[in-house]
Amino acid sequence: MAKSRPAAAAANPSYDAEEGLSFETSESIKPTTSFEAMGLKETLLRGVYQFGFEKPSAIQQRAIAPIVQGRDVIAQAQSGTGKTSMIAVSLLQLLDSQVLEPQSLILSPTRELAGQTTKTIQAMGEFMKVRAHTCVGGTNLGKDMGLLDAGQHIVSGTPGRVFDMIKRRNLKTRSIKTLVLDEADEMLNKGFKEQIYDVYRYLPPDTQVVLVSATLPGEVLEMTGKFMTEPLRVLVKRDELTLEGIKQFFVAVEKEEWKFDTLCDLYDTLTITQAVIFCNTKKKVDWLTDKMRQNNFTVSSMHGDMPQKERDAIMGEFRGGNSRVLISTDVWARGLDVQQVSLVINYDLPNSRELYIHRIGRSGRYGRKGVAINFVRSDDVRILRDIEQFYSTQIDEMPMNVADLI
Ligand code: ADP
Ligand code: MG
Repeated sequence: MAKSRPAAAAANPSYDAEEGLSFETSESIKPTTSFEAMGLKETLLRGVYQFGFEKPSAIQQRAIAPIVQGRDVIAQAQSGTGKTSMIAVSLLQLLDSQVLEPQSLILSPTRELAGQTTKTIQAMGEFMKVRAHTCVGGTNLGKDMGLLDAGQHIVSGTPGRVFDMIKRRNLKTRSIKTLVLDEADEMLNKGFKEQIYDVYRYLPPDTQVVLVSATLPGEVLEMTGKFMTEPLRVLVKRDELTLEGIKQFFVAVEKEEWKFDTLCDLYDTLTITQAVIFCNTKKKVDWLTDKMRQNNFTVSSMHGDMPQKERDAIMGEFRGGNSRVLISTDVWARGLDVQQVSLVINYDLPNSRELYIHRIGRSGRYGRKGVAINFVRSDDVRILRDIEQFYSTQIDEMPMNVADLI
């Protein structure tokens, strides 16, 4: 299918000298190396600088301009390099603040990520007086309807609630010009795909579509022909997906039963800054949390079966640095940005190659240092080797002085 697609002309690798990256782009893209040169509105430029950005990142240099020009864009870059921020800048530049109706819609896989993106948009769009709204499940329906009725410029949400609000006509779609799928490969995965198509069918026929993710497997790129028009592709190579700043290690725990003691031994290391521990199931998260607490360790935990109020409270504490060790499921694997997280533990190895990249990418945000430690049972060694090979990366045995690397 990919072969028969018209647009994507011969890949033209272009090299980013500064960051040592090579991008495969469907046309040779000239990076725009400053926010001024992008021709951003004065009010937006002020917002971007106030937010603390001085210079656009590699993906921002390449993808903001074509998005603002109205092209369909598929953008891939490593985790923590400013993709979600790029969505915020682009959508604000495209916005006509005079029209108080949703003009762009961002869909994300988790409520927390949708909310985080709204906050970025609100902060950067402060001088534009932007109205951005988080439209997610687990919140009061009536309140959601009321806020949409009051008028919003940009909606960032999760597919279920967004679709509900569209059907109820509280979320008006007639002025929508851009649809963005953040964590696009996850959004086009089995679990979400139908819901995305449901929403898509309600949008004006010429809606611009932007896909963003650190991981975009071939199957996903192949299906983009169904809803994108001659997309411009800005992709990093697979073997450049793992960040140099994140050191990856394994601990051979042999048996499941030995993971717990290993974690306890690492507790002091976990609390040097902040850490996220991943388990593969909600049940395991609950179990590990209880067991850590029984042993007098302070930990927080979060997963998708908790009431949204509790999830919000735990996120707030963790973002504020009041809790330092968070045990979670893959609800935390994608997109969430807490700059102080410098350590990720895979208590269980993830179930896919893509999840591995997303999980370890919760550390080492925007060039910061990070460490990922994988607990590996004898029967997991295969999986670890597969990850190493797939991303052409090296995962060494954890050294004694691992704390010095954080
Ligand atoms: P991604 O979506 O690629 O994982 P994010 O957009 O979440 O990355 O950005 C990661 C972190 O880097 C955030 O804290 C964000 O504020 C910061 N960041 C993004 N772009 C820039 C920039 N151009 N300059 C400085 N910091 C940036
Ligand atoms: Mg992101």
